[in-house]
Amino acid sequence: MVAGATSTSNGFYRSIIEALKSSGANISELRKIKKEKVLTKEKRELNTDVLVIGGGGAGLAAASSATENGAKVILIEKMSFLGGNTILAGGAYNAVDPKRQKPMNIEDSNELFYKQTFEGGDKKGNPKLVKILTDNAYSGIEWLEGKGMKFKDDVFTVLGALYPRSHKPIEPVGTGFILTYEKFLKENSVPILLNAQAKELIVENNRVVGAIVETPKEILTIKSKNGVVLATGGFSKNIEYRTKYNPKLTENILSTNTPAATGDGINLSQMVNANLIGMEDIQMLPLGDPKTGSLSGNIETTVEDRIFINKKGERFVAEDERRDVMTNALLDQPDALLYVIVDSQVYPNENDKNNFNESIKELVDENRAVKANSLEELAKKLEMDPKVLTKTIKDYNLAVDKKSDEFGRKLFGKKIEKAPFYAGARIPTIHHTMGGVEINENTEVLNKKGEVIEGLFAAGEVTGGIHGTNRLGGNALADITVFGRIAGKKAASNK
Ligand code: ADP
Repeated sequence: MVAGATSTSNGFYRSIIEALKSSGANISELRKIKKEKVLTKEKRELNTDVLVIGGGGAGLAAASSATENGAKVILIEKMSFLGGNTILAGGAYNAVDPKRQKPMNIEDSNELFYKQTFEGGDKKGNPKLVKILTDNAYSGIEWLEGKGMKFKDDVFTVLGALYPRSHKPIEPVGTGFILTYEKFLKENSVPILLNAQAKELIVENNRVVGAIVETPKEILTIKSKNGVVLATGGFSKNIEYRTKYNPKLTENILSTNTPAATGDGINLSQMVNANLIGMEDIQMLPLGDPKTGSLSGNIETTVEDRIFINKKGERFVAEDERRDVMTNALLDQPDALLYVIVDSQVYPNENDKNNFNESIKELVDENRAVKANSLEELAKKLEMDPKVLTKTIKDYNLAVDKKSDEFGRKLFGKKIEKAPFYAGARIPTIHHTMGGVEINENTEVLNKKGEVIEGLFAAGEVTGGIHGTNRLGGNALADITVFGRIAGKKAASNK
């Protein structure tokens, strides 16, 4: 049974029933209609080698990889479109890549990437999985490029990445990943069923061999003899789950996530007694849109070239820190609100875009960013003391020269000195659930005794044990690519 999904449809019917109650309708009659509606859906059985549940980045990677490895695949997606949270992401993908980093004089190594990822999650990730992630991230990029995806020639540092190894796709936000996989799957005639929600796993002889799937018209029994890949994403939008693991994360806190991130996979996995790990590790970002909590509207383009100030006009944290450190610091500031400050070196042209395909002009016109021709004017527009803001910027520019400051910042790029200046307000927002089902190096799901659950694989945000307490920015797209690819390959060969 899928609690998240069921409660959504129950919620839907409840609201109809409430509305009809007030108009005097016969409620028991209505309940009967609901029951009959479910009962009268057509039933159909489909057979395949591998069933992939979830059409975000991890599921699409798994379906592509299983196909490449010779399996017959069906992918199901509960929404009417592919993409999940992956398509909403800024697109940053971390990998050690001398081809792009060397010309920029960036020294890097898989050892440093591993160390930053492992220690950045307080050493709570499984070292073996972290090593697989960091050693295989670059070959994931080459794999995607081999399918036609294009990345920019420069790397940058995405929020909380800790180092300049974030790759940016040419296509905006996460669309490049989704379109690349979709094209590949279509070319290989892999059925993608939309509006198709997995409700139950089918278990025969202690082995997962498919799922019961509901579509608007049908109840499908999809049998997959090699197994099932769970790629259903996280649970940031499931308030009941969120507050169960962290009571502070109530409905009052916004999230960057799609409404689909309800933790269905966690519920499905409990049918086969999967072990859950790190569920209390839920990531907040300091850069949510003040109205929606979304990532969009963020005017930063790379960590090196911007600062954060509070409502008083003062800096309060090293802006290249871990996401949890920066968010905790923000929560202590007045109204927990910050402004990202950049200058026109970041946007030489008004039509230049941020990482979310929005031009700075568009953001200013929509009052989602503030533009000013001097720091004094900017301070006035932000209703802060101009003396405080000008001193903050002066001190920061000196820190850029020294490459050090009172907060311990390490990544410095351009000074903030060239008018016009821009500011964008941001708030804390829930972004990623690091916890989930436990997997081994083959992406096989483990049960509560540490044994492999035959036929069940998992990849992406539904899994736990990779990022520990804090996921580095730019590591999620690497994770879903690397582990989605492994899951597809392993499931294909699980005959
Ligand atoms: P990841 O980054 O791990 O790929 P995403 O959030 O990008 O995670 O994608 C997960 C996808 O799984 C979403 O598109 C979501 O709608 C889909 N999904 C979640 N639960 C189900 C389910 N029960 N059946 C089918 N698809 C599901």
